[in-house]
Amino acid sequence: MPDRAARDTTVMVLGAGINGAALARELLLSGVNVVLVDAGDVACGTTAWSTRLVHGGLRYLEYGEVGLVRESLAERDRLVRLAPHLVRPLEFYLPMRTRWGGLVSAAARLLGCESLAKRWRSPGGRGSIAVGMGLTLYDVLAVGSRWPRHRAARPGAAGLPAVDPRAFPHAAVYADAQMLFPERFTVELCVDARRIAAARAASFTLLTHASCEWLGDGSLRLRAADRAREFQPAAVINATGAWVDRTLAELLPGDGRPLIGGTKGSHLVCESPALRQALGDRGVYAEADDGRPVFVLPFGPELVLVGTTDIPFHGDPATARADDDEIAYLLAAVARLFPAVAPDQSAVVQNYCGVRPLPAASGSAPASVTRRHMLVRHAGAPLPTWSIVGGKLTTCRSLAEQAAREVLAALGLPVQGSSRERPLPGSLSAEARAACVAETAAVVRAAGVAAGRVDRVAERVVDLFGSRAPEACRAPGALPGDVPPLVADTDLPTAAVGFCVREEWATSLGDLVERRLMLAFAPRLSLATLTGLAVELVRLGMLPAGQAEAEVHRSAAGLHARFGKTVA
Ligand SMILES: Cc1cc2nc3c(=O)[nH]c(=O)nc-3n(C[C@H](O)[C@H](O)[C@H](O)COP(=O)(O)OP(=O)(O)OC[C@H]3O[C@@H](n4cnc5c(N)ncnc54)[C@H](O)[C@@H]3O)c2cc1C
Repeated sequence: MPDRAARDTTVMVLGAGINGAALARELLLSGVNVVLVDAGDVACGTTAWSTRLVHGGLRYLEYGEVGLVRESLAERDRLVRLAPHLVRPLEFYLPMRTRWGGLVSAAARLLGCESLAKRWRSPGGRGSIAVGMGLTLYDVLAVGSRWPRHRAARPGAAGLPAVDPRAFPHAAVYADAQMLFPERFTVELCVDARRIAAARAASFTLLTHASCEWLGDGSLRLRAADRAREFQPAAVINATGAWVDRTLAELLPGDGRPLIGGTKGSHLVCESPALRQALGDRGVYAEADDGRPVFVLPFGPELVLVGTTDIPFHGDPATARADDDEIAYLLAAVARLFPAVAPDQSAVVQNYCGVRPLPAASGSAPASVTRRHMLVRHAGAPLPTWSIVGGKLTTCRSLAEQAAREVLAALGLPVQGSSRERPLPGSLSAEARAACVAETAAVVRAAGVAAGRVDRVAERVVDLFGSRAPEACRAPGALPGDVPPLVADTDLPTAAVGFCVREEWATSLGDLVERRLMLAFAPRLSLATLTGLAVELVRLGMLPAGQAEAEVHRSAAGLHARFGKTVA
């Protein structure tokens, strides 16, 4: 049990992205109370706009970031074990044009001479010798895990991505992992935070769509859903990612130099059966003409995710959008790799763009800015206050562990628990999956889903909720015939809406579509789907009936603005 001091201590974490949520969970493991606050919804920031990889970061080796790569590889291993339903190993095919290219520029980069590295960059990009050396070091740094080692591959061989073997006559295959839905991973961190709080008699409050102001006496006023509450925390942690400086400007005006030097990165979601087939089950990690990495990734059974760019960005991160040049750049990179099935603009069914919360580093090339995270303490604050700078999806847990240790030490509290071996609530091993799908199918069948669709629905719900899927399909209190068994034009039970509202803090149509049920990426998302969800929100008392139509239009407009997606 937590000691008395921890039980009397409340820490406020601003920002419920992957890092803020992981930190809230970690602090609760040591018995302190946590108030987690987000100006929007859980995971509505950069977490949702990433490439969705859990990786060591092969390319960081060139910048000498050996420690970061080692930490990331250890976390990759851990996240695949602790959240196997959300983080899955993915093999990558790495095509190369040359054998010897890139050695000199890699050496210059390792020595910290980015400008020379650029000048001496080989026109054919990094070759198989330089990449092979990097992959060997990658394998060495992953020592202790059971991941397969990299291997050379024969371009054009059956079963590999059908990248043009004439243009890319060398290739290697190595393994990393994919977190298809970081949004759901973050929601599950919050679900776990609530479970930990209940088990330790601590309190966990999550306020979304909330604003926060400092009241001078060390207390903070939070406004959420037209209700204001005051808290007097023992410490505040600004985990607002790319918004860190904006948050500081509001909370501690004049606190000092900017901490963040964000760069924006864009992604395309393509619906091209030919490209999806040419890709197969592996991702492709290649070099664009300017030397930047480009990922072409399977994104579910029908879609392909392509990213990304790296462009300095100084505006409000919420306004970052993929521009036409970025879309053309990414399409050109795919066309060079897969000329026979190159998608055109019409295959780009949506796009998205996010801002990396990188540390401010004036004058540095975006790619060379460290991807490490750090905790910055603000001396001038009325109570112990820190900001988190940087961080990746991959290192959210280790970042949380390090930050919690520092905060607890400053508050004179002991570390009393760790997430190192703690599975996420929906954790479901490959061996246990079949039984969970069968149990979910039984619940879905009992709810009246047509026999021919039961299996597909069960698989889909297990993909989203892992071992919590059967529970997600039950509608407590609903009588047969109360609601249609499935949300229109989807493979999702209507009961899952209530589950997300009851158990996962969903309050709006946007929360459901973009960050709980992940319908924002469903190729057949329609206005009928949005209407069905809105009707269920009305039935659950979350939305006044008179506002349902406006909410549907607001959600569709949001999907168009943020994803370039047209819902009809
Ligand atoms: C293009 C791109 C690709 C990436 N790819 C990968 C990848 O493949 N793998 C990987 O490991 N990492 C990747 N990253 C990095 C990773 O996505 C981010 O570092 C990570 O998501 C940051 O999480 P966060 O919780 O710190 O910030 P965010 O997810 O941005 O969360 C910050 C939260 O703070 C909230 N907020 C803002 N202002 C306030 C306020 N005043 N009060 C309260 N709340 C507020 C926001 O609403 C938001 O929800 C990528 C990043 C980008 C941009």
